Amino acid sequence: MAIYEETLEQQRRYFRTGATLPVSFRKTMLRKLKDELKRREGDVIKALHEDLGKSDFEAYATEIGIVYGEISYLLKHLSSFMRKKKVASPITIFKATSYTIREPLGTVLIMSPWNYPFQLTMVPLAGAIAGGNTAIVKPSRYSKATSRLMKEIIESIFPKEYVAAFEGGHETNTALLEGRYDMIFFTGSPNVGKIVAAKAAETLTPTVLELGGKSPVFIDESADIKLTARRLAWGKFLNAGQTCVAPDYVLADKKIVKPLLEALEKETRKMFSSSPLSSPDLPKIINERHFERIRGLIGGSRTAFGGECDKDTQKIEPTVLYPVREEDPVMQEEIFGPVLPILEYESLDEAIDFVRGREKPLALYVFSRSRKNISRIHALCAFGGGCVNDAVIHLSNPRLPFGGVGNSGMGSYHGRMSLETFTHQKSIVKEALWIDLPVRYAPFGKKIRLLRLLMR
Ligand code: NAD
Repeated sequence: MAIYEETLEQQRRYFRTGATLPVSFRKTMLRKLKDELKRREGDVIKALHEDLGKSDFEAYATEIGIVYGEISYLLKHLSSFMRKKKVASPITIFKATSYTIREPLGTVLIMSPWNYPFQLTMVPLAGAIAGGNTAIVKPSRYSKATSRLMKEIIESIFPKEYVAAFEGGHETNTALLEGRYDMIFFTGSPNVGKIVAAKAAETLTPTVLELGGKSPVFIDESADIKLTARRLAWGKFLNAGQTCVAPDYVLADKKIVKPLLEALEKETRKMFSSSPLSSPDLPKIINERHFERIRGLIGGSRTAFGGECDKDTQKIEPTVLYPVREEDPVMQEEIFGPVLPILEYESLDEAIDFVRGREKPLALYVFSRSRKNISRIHALCAFGGGCVNDAVIHLSNPRLPFGGVGNSGMGSYHGRMSLETFTHQKSIVKEALWIDLPVRYAPFGKKIRLLRLLMR
C-alpha cells in the first residue's frame, strides 16, 4: 500500500473513533497549532524570505498575522457556532421541533499554491481542524523552504492519523488525488482546478476551488488620483504581484490616464526607491520559468515606467504598461507578477462590457467618488469580492467570506465561512409523541380541503 493510501486509511479510522468531535479537542488542537507557529515564527519568516524574498513586514502582514487572526477568530466563535440551531417549523408538521446540527466532514485534502505558501495552507488547515476533521496537507513544490517547514511543524505537533503533510510535485498530487476524501480544498490556477474537479467528480467528492484569473480595476474620472495610485501600487506590487487578488489590469477613464500614470510612478518610487531592483522590500519571482514568462509579457508592449529585470536575483521592477490593447499578450493570461497594464475607456459602459465579456474574476476594484458608478459596476459585473477605493484588503477581514465565482472558483472560507465550509449542516425534525395529527394518513376522503388551507 502506498504511503498516501496508508495515511488516508489511518485518518479514516481515527476519524471514526470520534476523537476529533468534541469542540474542546478542536480548540486544544488550534491552540497547539498557534503556539507552535508562534514558537517557530522566526523560521517561518526565514523560509518565506528564502522562497520569495519577502520582507519581515510583508511576511507578517500578509501571511503570519493573518493565520494568527484566523485561529483566534475560530477559537472565539467555535463553541457558539457548533451549537445546534433551532429554526421555526411550519404548521403542517405540528408539533415538531426543527433544528440543524453541524457535523465534521471527515478527512479533507488541502492543496495549496506557492505565492502565499504559509497562509494559504494554514488558514484552510485551521478551518479543517475547527470543523472537527482530519486533514492531509499538500503544499506547493515551488515554495520549497516554507513547504518543508510546514511539514516539519505539522509532524512535530500532530500524529499523522490526525494531520499529515506530504511534499512533492506532480506525481504526489496525482497519487493523492486517487484517494477518496470527504472534501478537497484546492487553491491554485483554474487549469489545475479543472483537473482536481474532474478527479473529484468520479467519486462525487465535494470540492472548494479557490482559483485566480484577471482581476480588473476601474478608475473613473471622479477618483482621488493620488490615493488611488498609492493604494493601487501597494496592492499590485505586494509580493511582486504574485497575489491571487492582485489588480491584474486597469480600465481608466481616458480623461485621467495621464495624471494617473504620473501619480503611479511617483508612489511606486516612494515605496521601492528609484532603483527598485535593489529594494529589500521588493520580493522576487518564485522561479525562473515564471520570471521568463513575466519578462516576456513586458517585451513588445509600451512601458510607461519600470521594465528592468535582474535574472540573478529573479526580481522584476514594478512596471506599468500603457497604452495596452485588448489583443496584447499581457491581456491574454493572468499576469501574476509586478506588471500593470492600463487600458483606457471613453464610457463606463464600454469598460463594464469589457469585464462582462470575460471570465468572472476573483476580485474587482473600483476607485471612484461616484456612488452611481460604483453601484452600476457592482450590479452588472460578477466577481468573487473586492474593494472600493482600495485593493486586496477585503481578504483580511475574517467576517467576510473569501472565494471566487465561476472560473475564479467555487465555495468560500475565512472565519465563519471556514466553519461552514469544513462542516456539514444536518437538518433534523424532532416530532412530538403526545400528538399525532391524522391528516396525512389514508384514507384521505375530503382531507385535501384541509391540506389546501394549510399549504398555501
Ligand atoms: P497551480 O494550479 O499550478 O498549483 C496549485 C497546486 O496544485 C500546487 O500544490 C501544485 O503542486 C498542484 N498541481 C499543479 N499541477 C497539478 C496537476 N496537474 N495535478 C494536480 N495538482 C497539481 O497554481 P500555482 O502556480 O501554485 O498558483 C498560482 C495560481 O493560483 C494563480 O492562478 C492564482 O490566482 C491562484 N491562486 C488563487 C488563490 C485564491 O485564494 N483564490 C490564492 C493563491 C493563488
